[in-house]
Amino acid sequence: MIPKSVPAWQQAMRDAVTDPHELLALLELDSARIRLPVAALRHFPLRVPRSFVARMRKGDPCDPLLLQVMPQLYEDQEIAGYVADPVDDLASALTPGLLHKYPGRALLISTGACAVHCRYCFRREFPYPEQNARNNAWEPALQAINADPSIEEVILSGGDPLSLSDERLLALSQQLDAIPHLQRLRIHSRQPIVLPERVDDALLAWMSKGRLQRIVVLHCNHPRELDQAVIDAIRALRARGIALFNQSVLLRTVNDDLQTLRELSQQLFSAGVVPYYLHQLDRVRGAAHFEVTDQEALRLYQQLQDSLPGYMVPRLVREIPGELSKRPLMQV
Ligand SMILES: *Cc1c(COP(=O)(O)O)cnc(C)c1O
Ligand code: SF4
Repeated sequence: MIPKSVPAWQQAMRDAVTDPHELLALLELDSARIRLPVAALRHFPLRVPRSFVARMRKGDPCDPLLLQVMPQLYEDQEIAGYVADPVDDLASALTPGLLHKYPGRALLISTGACAVHCRYCFRREFPYPEQNARNNAWEPALQAINADPSIEEVILSGGDPLSLSDERLLALSQQLDAIPHLQRLRIHSRQPIVLPERVDDALLAWMSKGRLQRIVVLHCNHPRELDQAVIDAIRALRARGIALFNQSVLLRTVNDDLQTLRELSQQLFSAGVVPYYLHQLDRVRGAAHFEVTDQEALRLYQQLQDSLPGYMVPRLVREIPGELSKRPLMQV
């Protein structure tokens, strides 16, 4: 039998590393004595594309890219205040998979799949099978958007919306194009960073198709994530006239130092991406070991402001359930 040919990016997604021992072996790290969070791994397994692994430093157990994906024993500890749904997503669902928290924009959970599993992810326990507006289950969400003329912008999120096939993306964007009060289509994706193969000719053709203005918000946390393949992918998106922003999460021992944050902003900007948000961690169960205190975050942020042009400084924010926007972190 001749296997049906799949795009290279889908093959790369399937070929991701999912075994922690294999990951450590690839990095020439000894895995004989590692202790894994058995419970956490059951619902949120390791997943990391090989091209992302190739950007990690061999022999360094504290590599900032590795720390973002490597399951740690801490994840199985119950810590007060760290919960399954820290931002009350389920309370703001208009229909399964459609979150309407902020005026004018609605967020569509278009898939539960991601190319990478980030251990700090606030949706790591999100009940995707019920909330995922996938397959033909987009219909109720599309109807709700259609019925609310105050919604001007739809945000495709997930999971990672660029895990959807090009055919599925096109079907969805065409339905959104047909809703007259919509003006913008925003795509929140980490894929151009972790799997730059995704930004192929077919995706670029889709990006420039359709009536709605396109915005892509990337998710990059560390300057070493930006290798040449990623920069080329970003430049290709830029060349299609797409507005590009980045959001990062402030993560302990990954990017909680001035030099790293400065370089991240500088390198993003020189690739054509505007630093948009620096998020304080959402307190999701299993991610407490990534938390940076508010006091430390504010101190770092002040230093960042004092060392970069204003347009390179992302907004330091936290999501507070019930508020009408992400809230700037304030000195208390
Ligand atoms: C973060 C978020 C948005 C986008 O907020 P912006 O400030 O416009 O970037 C929209 N909807 C939901 C549910 C969100 O969590
Ligand atoms: S890519 Fe985004 S949604 Fe997916 S695991 Fe990472 S942070 Fe979560």
